[in-house]
Amino acid sequence: MKVTILGSGTSTGVPVIGCKCKVCSSTDAKDKRTRPGALLCKDDFNILIDASQELRLQLLNRTDRIDAIMITHAHADHIFGLDDTRVISMRYGIEIPIYCSNETRLEIMDVYSYAFKNTQEGGGKPKFKFHDIKKTDFIGPFAVKSFKVYHGKIKIDAYIIDKLAVVMDASYIEREERELIRKNAENIIINGLRMKPHTTHFSIGESAFLAKSLVKGNSYMVHLSHDISHFELLKMLPERVIPAYDGMEFDA
Ligand SMILES: [Zn+2]
Ligand SMILES: [Zn+2]
Repeated sequence: MKVTILGSGTSTGVPVIGCKCKVCSSTDAKDKRTRPGALLCKDDFNILIDASQELRLQLLNRTDRIDAIMITHAHADHIFGLDDTRVISMRYGIEIPIYCSNETRLEIMDVYSYAFKNTQEGGGKPKFKFHDIKKTDFIGPFAVKSFKVYHGKIKIDAYIIDKLAVVMDASYIEREERELIRKNAENIIINGLRMKPHTTHFSIGESAFLAKSLVKGNSYMVHLSHDISHFELLKMLPERVIPAYDGMEFDA
């Protein structure tokens, strides 16, 4: 499959509004980090993982076709771009399949209540078709396993898609799930926020250390804050742990 990192940033995005720090002022394009998202493509089938506030910008000049969306959890930086899918629904006359937990579905239905009310269409509304994410499933040509990880005190979804593990926003992974990744994944997309510890996200050190122990292939670090530049991360991270950047592509 071809993987595109659509957004490598944390919930604030980088640059952060009003921040004059070194990273926020950087002219390196790789230090411009939009909110989280990844696009997986195989046999012309596109899966979007998470729909950030910048979804429209992330999809422009990239694709106008999304065949399925997987939502890890319903925090703003992972779902506030879902309205942008309405142009895709209109163009192709489809409801967009969304794979998520029951809890996430209820939160999306709450946030996007207008999409489920019988009111005037106006400029159109997003059209979602929800599917419960199962432990093992096929989504188009992709073999998918889903499992839970801790994001602070809450449990959210993470996946193994073919041989790629995707852990977008975690702070802890239990032993059983770590084993599942070790057995089934070759590469991983995993979050690392900043140098200092954080209550709901892996720090950069935790992420790198864990990733090395989970997969033999590469790990791609996402959900990055303005704490550290792409260049500094490149110098610091061990072999096979790669700082992601917006628009980065790789095969997995
Ligand atoms: Zn997040
Ligand atoms: Zn900053």
